[in-house]
Amino acid sequence: MLITSNVFLLFLDDNQSKIDDVKIIFLDVGQGDATIVDAGGSVQILIDGGDGEKILEKLGQYMPLLDRKIELLILTHPDKDHMGGLVEVLKYYEVRQILETGIACETAICQQWDKLVEEKNIPIKYAEFGQRINVNGIDIKILYPFDNLKDVKMKDDNDASIILRIDMEDNSYLLTGDAGFVLEEKLLEKNINIEATILKIAHHGSKNATSNEFLRKVNPQTAIIPVGKNSYGHPTEELLNRLKNLNIEFFRTDEAGDLVFE
Ligand SMILES: [Zn+2]
Repeated sequence: MLITSNVFLLFLDDNQSKIDDVKIIFLDVGQGDATIVDAGGSVQILIDGGDGEKILEKLGQYMPLLDRKIELLILTHPDKDHMGGLVEVLKYYEVRQILETGIACETAICQQWDKLVEEKNIPIKYAEFGQRINVNGIDIKILYPFDNLKDVKMKDDNDASIILRIDMEDNSYLLTGDAGFVLEEKLLEKNINIEATILKIAHHGSKNATSNEFLRKVNPQTAIIPVGKNSYGHPTEELLNRLKNLNIEFFRTDEAGDLVFE
């Protein structure tokens, strides 16, 4: 199924239309990446889930007590530090819809994912430029992939990460999965509007992501680095220096914990 430009409808119950406070929470899930878009009351979009069960604890903390439904799961790319936690979420929550790239993946975690999605019969959409999700005044635009990547074999799945921009109240947020220089270059070449006040730093602060050119184009006031204890040297000095030189304030989830924007 090829989805062209469209507005993406969430499956909501009648009593879910009440507009409440909206917020975005960048979660401290250790070395990994997970973000909750809380669209008010009982509507949640979860973008990646870190690895392991930590995400369940966080959802318990931030979701209403009796709410066991996640309206949309977005998997930016099928690496364990993003997908592992979402597999746990699939086990314990009712997930109403999934947005992913569907790139070819044979790992154990992908097999678990496929099995759970099939068992629970969860509708999947494949991400593509131009898709939009509108809910309670929050506008999410899919900026990458440019084309449907279903079953495409990638050499480096980081560079097939879903890139999305969220406009919410006075702020805009750019989330770039684990995209590296190669994917940033593609976005710059196409001259897509990637400006945002808040940038979620890609690939946990790898030196091979978030170039100076990319940072200048995004022009964020604030950067969020989702990172935990790791052996890769994340976040790297190179990346931190780029942020400092451009006077971008930054917060690391390993030092600051969960970061809530209202
Ligand atoms: Zn990652």
